[in-house]
Amino acid sequence: MDVMNKDYVIEIKKMNKWYGEFHALKDINLKVEKGEKIVICGPSGSGKSTMIRCINHLEEHQKGQITVAGVPLNDNIKNIQAIRDEVGMCFQHFNLFPHLTVLDNCTLAPIWVKKMPKSEAEEIAMQYLERVKIPHQALKFPGQLSGGQQQRVAIARSLCMNPNVMLFDEPTSALDPEMVREVLDVMVELAEGGMTMLCVTHEMGFAKEVADRVIFMDAGEIIEQNTPAEFFNTPQFDRTKQFLDQILSH
Ligand code: ADP
Repeated sequence: MDVMNKDYVIEIKKMNKWYGEFHALKDINLKVEKGEKIVICGPSGSGKSTMIRCINHLEEHQKGQITVAGVPLNDNIKNIQAIRDEVGMCFQHFNLFPHLTVLDNCTLAPIWVKKMPKSEAEEIAMQYLERVKIPHQALKFPGQLSGGQQQRVAIARSLCMNPNVMLFDEPTSALDPEMVREVLDVMVELAEGGMTMLCVTHEMGFAKEVADRVIFMDAGEIIEQNTPAEFFNTPQFDRTKQFLDQILSH
């Protein structure tokens, strides 16, 4: 097969982003195949979050191209919406609506954005709440749940929009340690189900278990990317080695 013609779910070419004068992302190139699981790591402030937020236009890039499912990300609102239809996102802070029940958090976007009938939206929401093992909490409010449970609801809520790609931005870093595993378990299951995933995380165990590729970023650049085995055993750059030494010694 001609590699040049491969269908990538996400294709980023020479993407650059500035915050004012500050050059936050420098010539980012990244191609993601359908079903691929990518873990993005690197020191705080290296641009990991900015990079994945650019993919669904939560941040705007100034130079270079981003294409998602063949749709170029530009100022055209139809393109932005088409891309957001493809891409679900899960944040460090779960961003659930506190005044809505778990079920209503999950059905809000399908009803209002996709114009889905309420009964159908609720049926789908319950399926995903089952998948994240929390169906019995459907009528509670987010504040009545633990952090790990809230994050699982946030994942279910994203899945209700039937995305083809999931972006995770440090989904476990705000959680108490005993709740990390339950969220990672949900992510592992999602990965095993074939979801295309980009995960910013410092959970290196998860990277080893699930990732097809680990990307290391520093100072706004992708420094190296490799399979977990190569990445952890034979990092190519001193910056990567230093980062791994630090993170793996904890
Ligand atoms: P990471 O996710 O790797 O911790 P971020 O993508 O959050 O890094 O941030 C990359 C850099 O961009 C940091 O130096 C950060 O201070 C800066 N930055 C992030 N968001 C903004 C913003 N809204 N305005 C100005 N600078 C920002």
